[in-house]
Amino acid sequence: MPIPLVDLKAQYRTIKDEIDAAVSRVLANASFILGPEVEAFEQAFARYCETKHAIGVSSGTAALQLSLLACGVGPGDEVITTPFTFIATAAAISHVGATPVFVDIEEDTYNIDPTKLEAAITPRTKAIIPVHLYGQPADMDPILQIAREHGLKVIEDACQAIGATYRGKKVGGLGDVACFSFYPSKNLGAAGDGGMVTTNDDSIAEQIRKLRDHGRTSHYGHSVVGFTYRLDALQAAILNVKLAHIDEWNQARRAHAQAYNKYLTPLGVITPREKEGCWAVYHVYAVRLPKRDEVFQHLRAKGIGASIHYPLPVHLQPAYAHLGLPEGSYPVAEACSKNILSLPMYPELTEAQIQEVAGAIRQVLG
Ligand SMILES: *Cc1c(COP(=O)(O)O)cnc(C)c1O
Repeated sequence: MPIPLVDLKAQYRTIKDEIDAAVSRVLANASFILGPEVEAFEQAFARYCETKHAIGVSSGTAALQLSLLACGVGPGDEVITTPFTFIATAAAISHVGATPVFVDIEEDTYNIDPTKLEAAITPRTKAIIPVHLYGQPADMDPILQIAREHGLKVIEDACQAIGATYRGKKVGGLGDVACFSFYPSKNLGAAGDGGMVTTNDDSIAEQIRKLRDHGRTSHYGHSVVGFTYRLDALQAAILNVKLAHIDEWNQARRAHAQAYNKYLTPLGVITPREKEGCWAVYHVYAVRLPKRDEVFQHLRAKGIGASIHYPLPVHLQPAYAHLGLPEGSYPVAEACSKNILSLPMYPELTEAQIQEVAGAIRQVLG
């Protein structure tokens, strides 16, 4: 039997009745844009993340773009982030007319390295976007400290990390504002696209509520030029069902990560390291290993859905060639991209499947 990277059908089977009822309710009520379903999910999400506000938007990328705008970031500004992320983190910076400035990552967590932050700050720097990559919180205390000293906003890219905690606090409430994605394969996934912004700042929340919905103050009253970046009511209803399961799903991911660690460490594979005070949720279970490409091909040939997050750091993508950042600019991110490999990870995975994946890796490395 093949083992996919993510098995969305397996998850649907466990909650089919609840999801089907929620979808039917939305269709029967025909209230598709904002309204009670979106409000109910926003309230539940804010409660879950322990933040004052949660604002449903159309994607994680929209969440990032609106957060940057609400933080006053625009043309001529610089925003510091990591080159080892999904391109959307940098793209959102570009979409508001600002320039992404990259800071290399820590080799053990793959997250932005706070010790290299200060050297990247210039008079144009307006904000820092740490990414909680693979579901592991970035080292927020030093990042927040540096941001405070330099008057910078901190926007968490929590798109891969719902439910993760840093020193006992949920991601989403650690910086000035935080962004989540409900892309179907994320650990809280919609049946399509969706996103969320969380914040404790009333003014940021108000601006984002307005910007996501055409800058509206009334149906045909518009105080600013806005966007069509709303979260669909249908997605909100589905996500609200799933939110009630997220803790048990994250626990299952953590248990799977431990099982993988147990089987892979003896093979000389570098397994994920959870930093002191961090509680990771393993949106992605990524390891580093020798003969990465050979292992990758072998797993694929055996029907095991391995993947590479990410084969090319953002600064080396053709889309960012205009930044003129050559190979060698961010050596840790570049090195990690060459030997990192993501293994199947989803709550419904079984220990037998994990053993099978480990066994297939042993066939190459063994
Ligand atoms: C998925 C993701 C995004 C973008 O989210 P979309 O909902 O696909 O727009 C941004 N940043 C990170 C780190 C992501 O993993």
